[in-house]
Amino acid sequence: MTLEDFHVHTAFCDGRDTPEELAEEALRRGFTALGFSGHAYMDDGRDWGMSREGASRYRQEIAALKKRCPIPLLCGIEQDYYAPDPPDGYDYVIGSVHGMRRGGRVCEVDSSLALFEQAVAEDYGGDVYALIEDYYDLAGGVADKTRCEIIGHIDLVTKWQEEKRLFDEQHPRYRAAAESAVRRLIPSGALFEINVGAMTRGCRTSPYPAPPLLRLIRELGGEIILSGDCHDRRALGRFLPEAAALARACGFMRCVRLVPGGREYVALY
Ligand SMILES: [Zn+2]
Ligand SMILES: [Zn+2]
Repeated sequence: MTLEDFHVHTAFCDGRDTPEELAEEALRRGFTALGFSGHAYMDDGRDWGMSREGASRYRQEIAALKKRCPIPLLCGIEQDYYAPDPPDGYDYVIGSVHGMRRGGRVCEVDSSLALFEQAVAEDYGGDVYALIEDYYDLAGGVADKTRCEIIGHIDLVTKWQEEKRLFDEQHPRYRAAAESAVRRLIPSGALFEINVGAMTRGCRTSPYPAPPLLRLIRELGGEIILSGDCHDRRALGRFLPEAAALARACGFMRCVRLVPGGREYVALY
């Protein structure tokens, strides 16, 4: 398995390190490529995105780094569903949903268990499946909305399930919402990522997405990419073997790697 990661955050958004520090760490660890994916600027009060000015410096800094780095570097962006600026000028786009807008408020599913529970109680009248249906309704449209190459953490709504069981992933309403999102996304040709970011952060012991969704993606002919969603160079490459093992267990024989201008297939065996 080649070591590489195309879902990596820098200090231009909510990551810890500069692009240069991350590239140096990738070289030390024997990576064959690295892709940066800064969070797009957000104008709704959420603070994990790059500033507009920061996004411009991010692109410039990575462009300069590409010229002197011995492995291919790609400059991507993680475009939230609601990001106001089009993701122009990047090598690739990861399209993600981190929360929903409802009644003028943002219902966060990603930030904390407390905010998730608050959204269920105050914005969905205690009906967690209504929140889930809204989440997957946006997730199913994220490829159309962002024109992404990669679909970020499709079942992010399960983030807190290990800390506190909030709903049943076998519930007909959960399954219908999640499966419908996958079916809507397949024709886009965008890659589904196996994302280990929550494992690195210590709030989960398994990657996104859950095996039933991964099996459905495989049955429908979807392709996958392995993502670290790394926010700290000390974690670069961590748990990617677990992501590959999950892909194999769900019947995938290959994953995709991004290369300048396109994609290549990598055998998982
Ligand atoms: Zn994300
Ligand atoms: Zn991310």
